[in-house]
Amino acid sequence: SITSTLKIEDLLELIFAQLSKVIASDAYFVALYLPETHELDIRILIDQGKRYPPTQVDANQGISSWIVKHKKPLLVHDLRKELESLSLKPILVGEKRLSRSWLGVPLLADEELIGLLAVTNYASNAFNDADQLLMEQISQQAALAIQNARHYEEVNKQAKLDSLTGVSNHKHFIEILYQETENSLTNMIPLSLIMLDIDHFKIYNDTYGHVVGDEVLRLTVQAIRSHIKKTDTVGRWGGEEFGIVLPNATITQANMVANRIRRTLSELPLFDVEGQTIPKPTISQGIATIPDHTTDADELVIIADRALYRAKERGRDQVAVGIPSPEK
Ligand code: GH3
Ligand code: MG
Ligand code: MG
Repeated sequence: SITSTLKIEDLLELIFAQLSKVIASDAYFVALYLPETHELDIRILIDQGKRYPPTQVDANQGISSWIVKHKKPLLVHDLRKELESLSLKPILVGEKRLSRSWLGVPLLADEELIGLLAVTNYASNAFNDADQLLMEQISQQAALAIQNARHYEEVNKQAKLDSLTGVSNHKHFIEILYQETENSLTNMIPLSLIMLDIDHFKIYNDTYGHVVGDEVLRLTVQAIRSHIKKTDTVGRWGGEEFGIVLPNATITQANMVANRIRRTLSELPLFDVEGQTIPKPTISQGIATIPDHTTDADELVIIADRALYRAKERGRDQVAVGIPSPEK
């Protein structure tokens, strides 16, 4: 069952459940190794039956640092006696009481450390070699399953993105738009949509080539990203058109964001294939907001799109705010 679970969170719970079934212990730890920060992300921490919130600890500190360093299991029968010879200083988590028995095994994938499993006991001599062997067997299955789940999550994530710019693809963007519309209506908070289209992009492509055209698409995304929040979503609507969903943003706020994007894009450097600086194309944007213009997601798109075309008609390189559709 461990190897067939694909959600990391569920998988870690399952690993803990298996561990607690085969080894009786005061405390259980399931941790993932974070290579960027060299930390252990203790995702499951159970101490005397009580669950503690996930916590990150320095991978150079504490008893577990020995496992991180050596990528080997560690069995300590009595920490009070062995701490000095191990030259380790324990970090206290959970109940914050010093354990006496300590057994930990690394989670290894292709000899890379991806995490560790540990059990500790307040009594000495709680674990033996058979426990260690059992834990090593669980850790092999667990590491494999974690790798599988990570791979699955990565593939799933990539399937939602546009490969050229890294923003949400059309399908995923629409899904987000629908979710956020529902959220906006339920919680009675505004939701703004910006539709953005690069001006005369065709001429641009024809003059400088598609490689430079592609670079402009990436620069546009960079400009967008520099002005939006974590909770906002950018999507490639198609070609040189992008959508931006801004939960909890009013018309005024969306207008400000749109104009900042416009200014930033004009300031980012762009080079032709010979490395010469070339001018960037401008962008036109249309804004529609729930509840001001509509309460319907499809209608929101239509209104933002119409506003975008008004911005184009008025001479491009500008932002236009939507007008509600006439009453049916
Ligand atoms: P307007 O100001 O009215 O928006 O004019 P435009 O030329 O930007 O609009 P139009 O829709 O006529 O042209 C869009 C162009 O975008 C056509 C196509 O060659 C180009 N395009 C679409 N996708 C890509 C892409 O992935 N890379 C590059 N380089 N060009 C693309
Ligand atoms: Mg265009
Ligand atoms: Mg277009």
